[in-house]
Amino acid sequence: MMIGLTQGMRRALLMRPHGVAILDGDAQFSWAQFVDRTARLAGMFKSLGLETGDRVALLALNSHRSLECYFAALHAGGVITPLNHRLSVQEIAAQIADAEPKIIVLGPDFAQFAGELKHASGGTVSAIIHCADGPAPDGMTAYEAALAVAQAVPDAGRGGDDLACLFYTGGTTGAPKGVMLSHANILANSANFISHIGMDERTVHLHCGPLFHVAAGVRLFSVTQAAGTHVVLPRFVAGEVLSVIARHRVTLATFVPTMLSALLDEPEIASADLSSLRYITYGAAAMPEALLRQVMTRLPDVRFVQSYGMTETSPIATMLGWREHMPEMAAKGLLRSAGRPALLADIAVVDPSGAPVLAGERGEIVVRGPMVMLGYWRQADATAEALRGGWMHTGDIGYLDGDGYLYVVDRLKDVIISGGENVYSQEVENAIAAHPSVQQCAVFGRPDARWGEAVHAVVVPVSGVAIEPQQVIDHCKSMIAGFKCPRSVEVRLTPLPLSGANKILKNELRADLLAREARSEVQA
Ligand code: ATP
Ligand code: MG
Repeated sequence: MMIGLTQGMRRALLMRPHGVAILDGDAQFSWAQFVDRTARLAGMFKSLGLETGDRVALLALNSHRSLECYFAALHAGGVITPLNHRLSVQEIAAQIADAEPKIIVLGPDFAQFAGELKHASGGTVSAIIHCADGPAPDGMTAYEAALAVAQAVPDAGRGGDDLACLFYTGGTTGAPKGVMLSHANILANSANFISHIGMDERTVHLHCGPLFHVAAGVRLFSVTQAAGTHVVLPRFVAGEVLSVIARHRVTLATFVPTMLSALLDEPEIASADLSSLRYITYGAAAMPEALLRQVMTRLPDVRFVQSYGMTETSPIATMLGWREHMPEMAAKGLLRSAGRPALLADIAVVDPSGAPVLAGERGEIVVRGPMVMLGYWRQADATAEALRGGWMHTGDIGYLDGDGYLYVVDRLKDVIISGGENVYSQEVENAIAAHPSVQQCAVFGRPDARWGEAVHAVVVPVSGVAIEPQQVIDHCKSMIAGFKCPRSVEVRLTPLPLSGANKILKNELRADLLAREARSEVQA
């Protein structure tokens, strides 16, 4: 009999019934209180019409109620689908139409979308819950008032391969896809994570990344599995992150590279008490080595752990452990690596026929293990394309060194083929980013009669600083082979378009360039 994700709550309740489960602003809940509220919220969901396998969509900033919704949806036998609140309301509506939830939970900042989202569902929604302290607007159910009278229901007992979460991908390379993760997928992720961090009931974890993103979302389950304590911030604000770490004696926090860079820029970091912090985990995007070294120097007592993965792998596939960040290992160049397979993962790098390539050679990264998704939601073709020959095809290019360390080079879709040579856009971006006057950059191919594709760079200078295209090209020539250097550079004074997960949308830049070329505003 397979267990499910609510087992972690039962275990935490046994281990620490009066211990702190959640700290959210001035609110605090013990494990006994959290489990009680969750069982009643599950009862409320069921009384509002939720049946086994039905989706609960959650659109809210992080709060203790977000955690309750995650666990209550599963307790009631349903599926949680957290939605990206940085998207436009039309994009959110498209995900609602795709997920067809029975219940929508809206944070107070999103209540005005209720009508539009209900309409988008095409009639599947039976209730919209207003996830806030006070009364609800017309047509919505007030969270606290309904919870106060709700009856607890027994756990539905789902687990194993049953669908637990429907997360949408970042939408970096196209429209976001719904990824079906099972209870077993996410339990495997917790095993992968906990084994590298040594988490237990003394762990105090800060959730400051958006819980709609898989990495932050499934971390709720790992911390619960370890019977630790959840500290919740509504969203990432550098100054608040520093003060909450000190206030609640946080031991473990997870960041993406841009957050670490914001923390370093925060003046308060000089005086903040970060003495409780034992571990920082980071990932979700390529980590610039220079930034990593700066953070490690600033926080010498913290152990750093990197993970690489994607929504489709729940998300962890590889990890670079804290020992591998130590000077003698880092001297071997390991800080540029994404590490080795996680506890329960197999990793290979293959050629287009699916055959493994030699160490040092580049190819597509493939992953297998119990954390690989069930498939894409209602997208059989995309699923068959991704899950082939027993492996999940990541769409990322990388290579393995002789010791099995993985180096992520680029996305397959971003590789530029110029004059028959492969140019990895990230390698060129890393070179450009090393220029002190550059704030942001993106590199992609533009159609070229002679070369097939020519390397094109879009560069945003540091504010108030001027940079000329030729300077960017000359700088690249000093760092990388000539055929990789941009043949054209566009300097922009406005920020580059970002996805809801803060990744640069190269597709948009490329389409914009092509449109302008068609109108011949830009000379080839
Ligand atoms: P979409 O699939 O919709 O285009 P996305 O791939 O950005 O969006 P996610 O699943 O959130 O959506 O991101 C996973 C991707 O992020 C990976 O495929 C990889 O390209 C990148 N990534 C994740 N971790 C790392 C890491 N440690 N180093 C380098 N790249 C990483
Ligand atoms: Mg992807």
